Amino acid sequence: MKYKGRFGDYGGFYVPEVLIPALEELEKAFYRFYKDKSFVNELSRLMADYAGRPTPLYHAKRFSEYVGFNVYLKREDLLHGGAHKVNNTLGQGLLAKYMGKTKLIAETGAGQHGLATAMIGALFGMETKIFMGATDVERQSVNVHKMKLCGAQVISVKGGTSTLKDAINDALRYWTANVTDTFYLFGTAAGPHPYPTIVKHFQSCIGKETRRQCLHKLGRLPDMVLACVGGGSNAIGIFSGFLNDKKVRLIGVEAGGRSLSSGKHAASISAGKPGILHGAKAYLLQNADGQVNDTESVSAGLDYPSVGPEHCYLSDIGRATYVAVEDEDVLDTFGLMCRMEGILPALESTHALAYLVSQKGKLPGKTIAVVNLSGRGDKDVGIVEKFRPVKD
Ligand SMILES: *Cc1c(COP(=O)(O)O)cnc(C)c1O
Repeated sequence: MKYKGRFGDYGGFYVPEVLIPALEELEKAFYRFYKDKSFVNELSRLMADYAGRPTPLYHAKRFSEYVGFNVYLKREDLLHGGAHKVNNTLGQGLLAKYMGKTKLIAETGAGQHGLATAMIGALFGMETKIFMGATDVERQSVNVHKMKLCGAQVISVKGGTSTLKDAINDALRYWTANVTDTFYLFGTAAGPHPYPTIVKHFQSCIGKETRRQCLHKLGRLPDMVLACVGGGSNAIGIFSGFLNDKKVRLIGVEAGGRSLSSGKHAASISAGKPGILHGAKAYLLQNADGQVNDTESVSAGLDYPSVGPEHCYLSDIGRATYVAVEDEDVLDTFGLMCRMEGILPALESTHALAYLVSQKGKLPGKTIAVVNLSGRGDKDVGIVEKFRPVKD
């Protein structure tokens, strides 16, 4: 198992001895069920009727005119819960059910994954505990309330910076003591093996649909596919459909933070060095002594000091390119998208759109760019209003 789940030198599982049986059980169950006929049928029925798949591929005409080339949006923002997260929670939740587990735990930062897990806990009638840093519990009170409405218990984690990375540590600790009946529903394509592989599998519906929709609607593949990168799940989900299409450029956009984020950022690949966090080797934001840096971004959902191992590998081999976009540009682009398309994008997804704005007038007019619009921005109107108040 030591060499399993490697993407080049990245990934693997660097966990305490006590967790290894749990991860092995999970890996075995995943490979047993992910192609199982009744599992696949039940999941695709739920993806359609509960989550709302397939999502449309939308030509953003006015935004395209503005940047000077064609921009298409993969509308994951229209899914139940308002983001791509439900693809993963439905998949892992169903896996938990097939494994005979009765309880779910999950970590959350901004509260989006916590909410998507709480929804699925309700759907499957499973007792659900969400670990969340105390600072985040305070900052994200609306999502905390929604999780509780869905019947989940929110456990406030104190220690460290009382944010996402501390919540993950506590969730892992809790899991070691409760593996028999408890499934740890991890929120992104990071963490120890087999999570990066499992999360990619359940998010790969985005890439499969997008590829099919491009061929059907546009008669060809796009020139570039873009997605924002926090832990990397929505990005690997859409990239996975195009990995073998060498002519399609894959661009991951990280949170360059700064001016509105106390000078901090969360650009793990663009500015990090390989290190180990939460059971995997990956690019990591760390100081000269190897201490993990505090991160900050205008979009809480990208606020993670590391990134999924496959993205690190894709960056090293040059198959995908990773860039960082700063807060101010993200807020400007949010406003543009609202006014030009009547779409409020999540600030996370807006990072990918902001990168395209930076390419305004620089690409041939025939260029086709597909952006994974990973979520909707209703949750973000408060922070946008703070920095970019609407004028009468
Ligand atoms: C959580 C979230 C992200 C970041 O997570 P990834 O695993 O990198 O996809 C991006 N967009 C939205 C809308 C989110 O809720």
